[in-house]
Amino acid sequence: MIPTQPPHTPGGGATPVLELDALERHFAGHGGIVRAADGVTLTVGKGEVVGLVGESGSGKSTVGRCAVRLDEPTGGTVRINGRDVTRLSRRALRPLRKDFHLVFQDPSSSLDPRMTVGQIIAEPLRLHGIAKKDAARARTAELLGQVGLRPEHAQRRPHELSGGQRQRISIARALSVDPDLLVADEPTSALDVSVQASVLNLLADLQRDRGFGCLFITHDLAAVEFLADRIAVMYLGQIVEQAPTAELFADPKHPYTRALLSAAPVPDPAIQRTRRRIVLSGELPSPLAPPPGCRFHTRCPLAVDRCRTEAPELRELPGNAAEGGGRQVSCHLVGDDGTAPDAAAAPALRTIPSTRTAR
Ligand code: SF4
Repeated sequence: MIPTQPPHTPGGGATPVLELDALERHFAGHGGIVRAADGVTLTVGKGEVVGLVGESGSGKSTVGRCAVRLDEPTGGTVRINGRDVTRLSRRALRPLRKDFHLVFQDPSSSLDPRMTVGQIIAEPLRLHGIAKKDAARARTAELLGQVGLRPEHAQRRPHELSGGQRQRISIARALSVDPDLLVADEPTSALDVSVQASVLNLLADLQRDRGFGCLFITHDLAAVEFLADRIAVMYLGQIVEQAPTAELFADPKHPYTRALLSAAPVPDPAIQRTRRRIVLSGELPSPLAPPPGCRFHTRCPLAVDRCRTEAPELRELPGNAAEGGGRQVSCHLVGDDGTAPDAAAAPALRTIPSTRTAR
C-alpha cells in the first residue's frame, strides 16, 4: 500500500502555485509496471524554491515532467494556481501554459537549431498573443540583457553559442511570459563546472526579483542548498523526507537523507573532519518491483524486522513554522517528537543558517 502523505503548507504560508497530491506515474515496461512516481504529495508556494533531490532513478524528473504535463500522471492530481490540470486536454491546457515552464537539463536538445535566438525567445510571446513584432523584439532584447547576453545574440543560432549561453537562452525563453512556476530539471548538470555557478546565480537572482515558484530538481546537494528554501528527498518513487533547507542539512532524520548528505563535500575543514561517510550497500532497487515494507529496507543500515513488512507513513514532525511549517519523514524509527536513531552516524553538515539568505 502507498503511504499517505499529509498536506504541506508552503513556506511562510505563501499561496501555492503547484500542488501535487498523491501523484502517480506508472507505465508498462520491462515486462511489468514501472512505478516511476508512486504517491508524491508536494507543494511549491509563490516565491518559494523547493528542491527535489535523490539518486538517478528515484523518479524526481518524472515528477517534474508530470508537474508541467509533459508526462501524463496515471493517478493523483496536479493543481497549478489552484486549478486542477491533471486531465485537461492539450487544447484546454494551451492557454494555461504561460503560467508554467520547464527548463531542461540539456539546452542543446531543447532549443530548435533552425531558429535564431531571437525567434526562440519570442516564440512563447507570439504563441500566447502577448507581444508581436517590435514589442516582441524589444522584450527579447530586454530578456537577453536579464540573462547576461547582448542584443546581437538574438541573431545567432544555438550551435553558435556555448553550453552556458544556451542554458541562459532556455531560461530567458521560459521566463519570457512571466510564469508563476518554473520547473528546472538539473539545469546545470550538462554544463562545464566553470559555468555552473554563474547559471545558478542567474537563476537565483531572477527567482528573487520575479518571485516565481520553482521546483528545482537536482542531484547536486551544494546547488540545492544554495537555491532552495525547502527540500524534498525522493527514494524509489516516493518522498521520504521533507524539511526547510537549513533544518535538513543541520539535522537530517531519514537514514537515506543522512547517507546522501554524508557524501556531500563540506567547505569547512573542521566540520569535514568530524564527519563519517555512510556508504549504502547495493543498488537502487528496480521501480518494477519495489521492496515490500519500507522501500529503503534493502539498503538501510538501521532496518529492523518491522521495516521489511510495514511501509512507514510520511508523518509531519514539529518544525519551525516560520521556515515552512513542519518537517515530514517516513521512518519507523523516528519518534513523533523528531528523535532520530543513531544521530552520531551522520553529524550535522552545517551549523549555520541556510546560505539562501546570504547569496
Ligand atoms: Fe530504515 Fe526502517 Fe526507517 Fe526504512 S523504516 S528508513 S528501513 S529504519
